[in-house]
Amino acid sequence: MIERLENWIDGRPVPPVSGAYLPDYEPATGTVFAEVPDSDAADIDRAVKSARAAFPKWSETPAAERSRMLLALADGLESQLERFARAESQDTGKPIRLARTLDIPRAIANFRFFATAILHTHSESHATDRAALNITLRQPRGVAGCISPWNLPLYLFSWKIAPALATGNTVVGKPSEVTPYTAYLLGEVCRDVAFPPGVLNIVQGRGPTAGAALVAHPDVPAITFTGGTATGAELGAQAARRFKKVSLELGGKNPAIVFGDVDLDRVVPEAVRAAFSNQGQFCLSGSRLFVDERIFGEFVKRFVEVAGRLRVGDPADESTEFGALVSAAHRDKVASYMSLAREEQAEILLGGGPPASLPERCRNGYFLSPTVLTGVRPDSRLMREEVFGPVVTITPFRSAAEAVTLANGIDYGLAAVIWTRDLDRAHRVAAALEAGIVWVNCWLFRDLRTPFGGMKQSGIGREGGEEALHFFTETKNVCIRFDEGEVR
Ligand code: NDP
Repeated sequence: MIERLENWIDGRPVPPVSGAYLPDYEPATGTVFAEVPDSDAADIDRAVKSARAAFPKWSETPAAERSRMLLALADGLESQLERFARAESQDTGKPIRLARTLDIPRAIANFRFFATAILHTHSESHATDRAALNITLRQPRGVAGCISPWNLPLYLFSWKIAPALATGNTVVGKPSEVTPYTAYLLGEVCRDVAFPPGVLNIVQGRGPTAGAALVAHPDVPAITFTGGTATGAELGAQAARRFKKVSLELGGKNPAIVFGDVDLDRVVPEAVRAAFSNQGQFCLSGSRLFVDERIFGEFVKRFVEVAGRLRVGDPADESTEFGALVSAAHRDKVASYMSLAREEQAEILLGGGPPASLPERCRNGYFLSPTVLTGVRPDSRLMREEVFGPVVTITPFRSAAEAVTLANGIDYGLAAVIWTRDLDRAHRVAAALEAGIVWVNCWLFRDLRTPFGGMKQSGIGREGGEEALHFFTETKNVCIRFDEGEVR
């Protein structure tokens, strides 16, 4: 049966004004399992009106009470963790194990983290000589527009709405139309925990219609966006015309540098995980590997062995480690890079096309195998463009300086990984890399208090911890002058 999803506006499910719906496909099977509102400017306007009406009360609600409501949302989500994990896996094609251990727990953690963080913020004050006191107020901006992508749907949606709500803003969120399911279910949790109507509104629909209308809306002063670099550039230009505050978390093509002193038993499985987790559809994926030439041959051999053992299959199967890509269009885009590898005569050491065998149920799903390439030139599109799929390149380097030059040689600068036992070298290389986050001897180890975001074309601004709390608040200095005179 095809389930009909709705928008969540003013504390209830609401059909789109136009009455139009889009199909929602299950990537593992290629079949439609739900339909999602094809919302447009009229739905966005309705949601913004609701959010505006709710703003005065929510922004004046004591932080402790806002915190309590966010914790209730987290508890509500946690009580249905398995249902949400299954929904996320069905909607995205990611293995159920990943949805259960990463996506949904992280969404819960996002709500809990910002619910707690808001109780521990501080603002500066200055006693100016003995004549005045300057205090800094951080006030919510109003209605925040939160636009998120399909690769980590609830994980990233909650990453945006949790700090926006914690700081006293009301929200209109626009998830990706490709993966609307868990955002829809979040509306049910709002109902279950009696989350105040209008404070969180969720409008489903396509980016160029619903998303663009949210960015253009005059009553939405702040936009936080995670998605592709091209979309981010367009959206940033639109927002700039209206002087909106914008945070852009964009694409990545992240280097992983492996020095010759590492323990390959430990590093290879982690490098494989960084490359192929979520079928490589991770803005943080380590998709460009640079390996010390002294261990290059051994590293490549072991990397191919470990990647070749990944269990590709039905995402609903408990043993599956590598599922389907998110859509037919995206599968085709990633496959085109595999064709490019052939044209450029790169060496395809693993994969390069669909898996040899799949369960019957998945015959029409959007699958591609983990793919490992060597012999790719630094100026190749395979090296410079974000494939956002299970395609990695491995390239040898002779010196740390050469590795850094190769790593920095493209337009992206989101994340980087360094594998070495030499702490001095780790420090020097980390400082030289053009990336918003550098992991040393780990990947995806996240402390939510730390800033997160990209350099160069990987974004503008930082989110996470204090950075997110600052983004969602307007800073105001209040200077209070004292009367001069005697102590009385
Ligand atoms: P897109 O840029 O296509 O879309 C992201 C979101 O923006 C979706 O909700 C989309 O809606 C919406 N959108 C699209 N066009 C517009 C528009 N003109 N105005 C407003 N909103 C719009 O990215 P993908 O969904 O394809 O996600 C993959 C990208 O996200 C990759 O490049 C990846 O690197 C990046 N990403 C970055 C992360 C980071 O933290 N830096 C984390 C995760 C992913 P719809 O899909 O419904 O069209």
